[in-house]
Amino acid sequence: MFKKISGFIIPLICLLVAGQDAMAVTYQVQPNDTLAKISDKYGVPEDDIANQNKLLSTMLAEGQTLEIPSLYKMNRDDVRNRIALKLGIPLAEVEKSKLKTINDSAKNGMIYMGDPSEKRIALTFDDGPEDTYTPEILDILKEKDVKATFFVTGQHVKEYPERLKQIHDDGHVIGNHTWDHPSLPDLSDKELNKTIKTTTQEIESITGTKPDLLRPPFGEIEDRQAKLLHSQGYRMIMWTADSKDWMGISAEEIVSRVKQDASPGVIALQHNYHASGDFETVKALPEIIDELRADGYEFVTVPTLIDE
Ligand SMILES: [Zn+2]
Repeated sequence: MFKKISGFIIPLICLLVAGQDAMAVTYQVQPNDTLAKISDKYGVPEDDIANQNKLLSTMLAEGQTLEIPSLYKMNRDDVRNRIALKLGIPLAEVEKSKLKTINDSAKNGMIYMGDPSEKRIALTFDDGPEDTYTPEILDILKEKDVKATFFVTGQHVKEYPERLKQIHDDGHVIGNHTWDHPSLPDLSDKELNKTIKTTTQEIESITGTKPDLLRPPFGEIEDRQAKLLHSQGYRMIMWTADSKDWMGISAEEIVSRVKQDASPGVIALQHNYHASGDFETVKALPEIIDELRADGYEFVTVPTLIDE
C-alpha cells in the first residue's frame, strides 16, 4: 500500500500538457536497457516514464513496450531546474535566491528544499517507526553523528511507541505522516483533519512535542488541503531527491540516485518501513553519508535546513 510512484512531477506535467496534444513515443525495451538509459536517451525524467507506463519497479523486460512522454524535457543534472518549474519561477531566480524567496514562492506552506546557497542536506525517513529497519538506521545515524527527520504514521507510533521515543531521545526530528497513509486528495476536510490530528496527538503523547512538519503520503495534496493545514500551523515537507528505495533496487542504485539528486538545500526521501521484498536502504545509508560528506555536505534536520 505504500508502493506508489512519486507524485512530485505529475501536477507539473498536467500543467504543461494542458491545452496541447499529449504526444508519446512508443519504445521497445532493448537488451540491457535500464530506465535510466531510456531516460537519458529521450531526456525525459524516469519518474515520467514510470508514471506514464504505471511501472511499479525499475525492472524492465526485453521487448517490453513503453510509452515515452515527449513533451517535457528536463536538464537532468539540475534538481533546481525542477524546483523552478514546479514553482513557476525562473531557474536563475532559484539559483541566486535565498531560502525565503523559494519558500515564499511555494504556496500554502509547501516546502521543497532549503537554502541552495548552503551545502547542506536533510535526510528524511518515512512510514515508520517499526522494529526491523528503524533500530539499524538509528544505530548508523548515531555512529555517523547525523541528525535526520522521521515522518511517522499514527498507526505505527501506536504499535511501536518505544521506537518513537528512541527516535526522539536520539535528537532526531519527528513529523506527521498521517494515521494510515491515505492519499489526501481522496479525503474530505473532516477526514483530513482526523488523520492529522489523531497522529499529532499520538506523537505528542509519547514525545511531549507537537509536530509542526507534515509529509503528505505519496507527495499528494490539494492546494485547498495544504492551505487548511497551513492555517493550523503545519508546513508540508516535500522532497527534492528521491532514493526510490521502496522499489526493491540495490543499495548501489539507491546511493547513486541520492548522489545524482544531491545539491545544496536538498531534502532526500528514504523509508524506514517496508512491507515485503528487497529493501536495501539500511545497506545504502553509510555510503550515502560518507560519500556526500566527503563531497562537503553537512547533514541537518528539516527544521534546520528550512529555517533561516
Ligand atoms: Zn509514506
